[in-house]
Amino acid sequence: MAPTPTPSPPPEHAIPPLHLQVLNLAHEGAQRFFSHTSSPHSVLEKSCEIVLAALYPPALIADDSSPPPGPPTIRSVTLHVRPFGGVAHTCGSDLDEQHKEVHLSADYVAQVGGDSRRINHEIRGVLVHELAHVFQWNGGGSCPGGVIEGIADWVRLGADLGPPHWREGGDSWDAGYQTTAYFLAWLSSKFKNSLLVPELNLALRSSGWDDGKVFKKLCHDKEVKELWEEYEKDLEKRRKQEEKEPEESPPKPVPTHAAGGGGYNVQY
Ligand SMILES: [Zn+2]
Repeated sequence: MAPTPTPSPPPEHAIPPLHLQVLNLAHEGAQRFFSHTSSPHSVLEKSCEIVLAALYPPALIADDSSPPPGPPTIRSVTLHVRPFGGVAHTCGSDLDEQHKEVHLSADYVAQVGGDSRRINHEIRGVLVHELAHVFQWNGGGSCPGGVIEGIADWVRLGADLGPPHWREGGDSWDAGYQTTAYFLAWLSSKFKNSLLVPELNLALRSSGWDDGKVFKKLCHDKEVKELWEEYEKDLEKRRKQEEKEPEESPPKPVPTHAAGGGGYNVQY
């Protein structure tokens, strides 16, 4: 008699139905998408799992226990792979905000450099970033774009899906993307709070950005500008240390977000 399979526990947060739309199969980017992602469904499902595990870990306790800490209600996610300028963006569908669309540029996929592994890595990285937008809270639209983008790249960074040209530092703490992502990771480490970003995200469910009040509270009431200065000094110190003990020379920066100039675009 065949052994009874052990039922797997239900997922902490259900993954909505996942759809794919590719109209022009002949486009080089579409062909690359299929040849470098063995199963689009598995890639999307795994990417959703990564995002949900990062933003809503079991240890996350909501201030108000009802509703339990979780993402917005999402009824479906449709990935559109089609040619357009830029990298990717996420938006609500024509139906409503609960049916999400992730648009991945086939033109962008067509021009990603590197071997098959790198192309697969880049596609998964961009999908994780976009799916973070699907499942994150945004303070009712009041959260600054730089913070929204920083949280999305923090998820990508934590999943080890950042492109090889990413480096710490930048113009300001809320410049967004990897600049803010690395800073958020540094803050988590400084305050020994691995839940700092999930707590920030969850706070944006029930309250607006409100001049960064919740963020400041999570940073032990310190001013973010002072923390950024401290981070820059720490970064400089680490860089000098690295110069003394050179590791492998880093790869040359590759402008992944060249098309469109603005990197990812998100519409809220
Ligand atoms: Zn984005």
